[in-house]
Amino acid sequence: MTSTLAGLTALVTGGASGIGLATAELLSEYGADVAVLDLDPAAVRAPLRGFTADVTDDDSVRSAVEETARQLGGIDILVNNAGTGAAGTVADNPDEEWARVLDVNVLGIVRVTRAALPYLRRSAHAAVVNTCSIAATAGLPQRALYSASKGAVLSLTLAMAADHVREGIRVNCVNPGTVDTPWVGRLLDAAADPVAERAALNGRQPTGRLVTAQEVAAAIAYLASPAAGSTTGTALAVDGGMAGLRLRPE
Ligand code: NAD
Repeated sequence: MTSTLAGLTALVTGGASGIGLATAELLSEYGADVAVLDLDPAAVRAPLRGFTADVTDDDSVRSAVEETARQLGGIDILVNNAGTGAAGTVADNPDEEWARVLDVNVLGIVRVTRAALPYLRRSAHAAVVNTCSIAATAGLPQRALYSASKGAVLSLTLAMAADHVREGIRVNCVNPGTVDTPWVGRLLDAAADPVAERAALNGRQPTGRLVTAQEVAAAIAYLASPAAGSTTGTALAVDGGMAGLRLRPE
């Protein structure tokens, strides 16, 4: 796929770490001019351009998106990837925590997409890819709030795809399983025995290992590329078989 994104511009939210950073780097490798919007873009290196913004703050989103479009000369590809998590059942999190997570994971997509739409409408190859999760459909224990937020991301992806298909804007999402990113690293570090916990986590994957950020990035890059020109309103699982496979006990 090298060079298939030549001449296109891309904006990746949450692009300073994990899946977002791998995606920004891959889109750049494929020839796109790429900007990253993040709370802390310090890790972003040239040729990527980093912009500081918080997806929960409409003013900071608007100015970062406008500055991105000015510097890049437009926005063809938007990757709504910034996200946050919370553990627990419905009994465990107060309303404020629900509001915080939904603000980042759902309203964050709304704010960034709203600000980017005027630029996407001017593109001949407009594509939006949202980072969803298998949590949207899997019924994971102890993830009520996170799952509800990603369920909303899946529905929002489908609704956005329907609303903008006639404008030539494609909207899809990826559903990663457990991905080896700093986020998961932080969760493992908090365990009593991080090495044993990582081994157990690997063992729970049908493939026997965690998904890599680069594998999710490859799926996002495909959905964002003109090669996926007839694909809109879909969710692509990148989960090592977690959602679809029912393995027999060995
Ligand atoms: P990460 O913590 O490595 O990176 C997340 C990035 O988002 C960070 O750079 C952070 O600064 C940025 N960010 C967070 N809140 C922000 C805000 N309000 N405004 C702007 N930027 C913000 O995490 P990751 O594992 O790469 O996760 C990225 C996305 O992938 C998230 O949407 C997450 O829900 C989703 N996801 C992750 C996994 C996984 O196992 N890691 C699985 C499924 C889905």
